[in-house]
Amino acid sequence: MSNVKISMAKFLAKVGGPLSKLGSGSGKSFAGIVFSKVAGIDAISELSKDLKIGSVILTGTNGKTTTTTLLIKLLSNDIPIRSSYESNTINAIASALIQQKGDVGVFEYGIRNIKYGIPDTVQRVVDPVGVVYTTISPEHAQVAGEKNPFKDYYKAKELLSQGMQRGVIVTNTDDPRTAYLGYKKRNDVTINYYGLEVDDIKDFFDAEAIECPACGKELKYEKRFLNHRGVYSCECGFKRPEANVKLTNVEFTNEKWMLTIEGDLYNYPTNKNVSFNVDLKVPPFGFHNIYNTLASITAYATFTPKTENIESTIKEVFNNLDMSFIPPGRFEVVNYENKLIGLGQGDNGDAAKINALFMNQFIEGPLEFIYTTPEENEEEIFEDHFEVIKALKPAHVIVVPGRKSIEKAEEYYNIIKKEYPDAEFYPLSYDEMTKRINKLYELAIESKYDYVIMTGCGEEQAMWENIKQKLIKR
Ligand SMILES: [Zn+2]
Repeated sequence: MSNVKISMAKFLAKVGGPLSKLGSGSGKSFAGIVFSKVAGIDAISELSKDLKIGSVILTGTNGKTTTTTLLIKLLSNDIPIRSSYESNTINAIASALIQQKGDVGVFEYGIRNIKYGIPDTVQRVVDPVGVVYTTISPEHAQVAGEKNPFKDYYKAKELLSQGMQRGVIVTNTDDPRTAYLGYKKRNDVTINYYGLEVDDIKDFFDAEAIECPACGKELKYEKRFLNHRGVYSCECGFKRPEANVKLTNVEFTNEKWMLTIEGDLYNYPTNKNVSFNVDLKVPPFGFHNIYNTLASITAYATFTPKTENIESTIKEVFNNLDMSFIPPGRFEVVNYENKLIGLGQGDNGDAAKINALFMNQFIEGPLEFIYTTPEENEEEIFEDHFEVIKALKPAHVIVVPGRKSIEKAEEYYNIIKKEYPDAEFYPLSYDEMTKRINKLYELAIESKYDYVIMTGCGEEQAMWENIKQKLIKR
């Protein structure tokens, strides 16, 4: 690849980039699209070389946007960084490399499966010094009309770090699947694990059998925190690695949560070990955000060159956090005229379970469950969702289509009805989204129950965020 061609591509991308704001569609990725068209996708590796420290890529099923947002807040408190989030493409990363300045890159990268993502190419051309894994759970069982087996999905996530020969993998040790991705690479790179070391967070779902990612046998759990996350071991020798960054104390109140986080880990820019201990006061932002907090703090402490700032920066960012860092449509519990309404997206079983665990701590009386269903061919997601409904023991269930198919939603409803004979069904159409939103809002505020949970599938912005805003603003 000639330098002239790369310079030319960079120039065109820079010139063309700002124009893209006028158009629609590819928006944030436009400069990257121009660059890859002119110079080729492999030339992105030349852009990556501009970073003195390197790139950190974040991926996972749930929590990657929040974790990326938090990591950007933390690192940019210390140094200028280049970043992109809420985007799943290599071109968004290339755009950030071209248009921004800084020695570290922080990039969110979502991968649905191998066919519709290019995790190995991203690994090769971006050549990250850090890969951060949040959670890996079976999600959208179907991508572009095809079944998406979990095995392929997991493999795609693995490919993002498989080729790494230097740097650090930051991963959740409580989740055997993400822990194993680090564990497998332990001879090539440093692994900084994060996890819980508290007794206050306990699962109330029936313990599901979880396969050992190393050998396929059933894992033995000493403790279960959330769903498949916990303290586990297998007869093959694989067990939960010791966490480098851990939540060691937590106090929940309605107003604030107090978190104590202790860290002892490898810092990449200084090539030294660092340790820290912080007490944080955060908004009651939900259990899943405890993991997002740990992931972002671990990645931050791994990649900041200003290790002397670690404790003060973490305090600065988290003690000033309000709920606005939560992406649109995410689960929140709203107090509406003394009725507690928990609502937000729960597109996959794991997300819905975490929503239920969060809501459960507030429930002190009969509960109504307003459930928004998945699409056709998403029976597996429905099965997980149904477990969540049953675990909360609702006094009443309402079923509304969450996606396009009303017919399929009715089928799911009929299954629910066998267990909850007085369950109701509202066949609200996807095309009349405003009607669907208004009805869901009405169902929540007019519910005769003091506790209402509304979750399942639905468009993040177009549906959940709209309903939430109506409830908050009134
Ligand atoms: Zn095993």
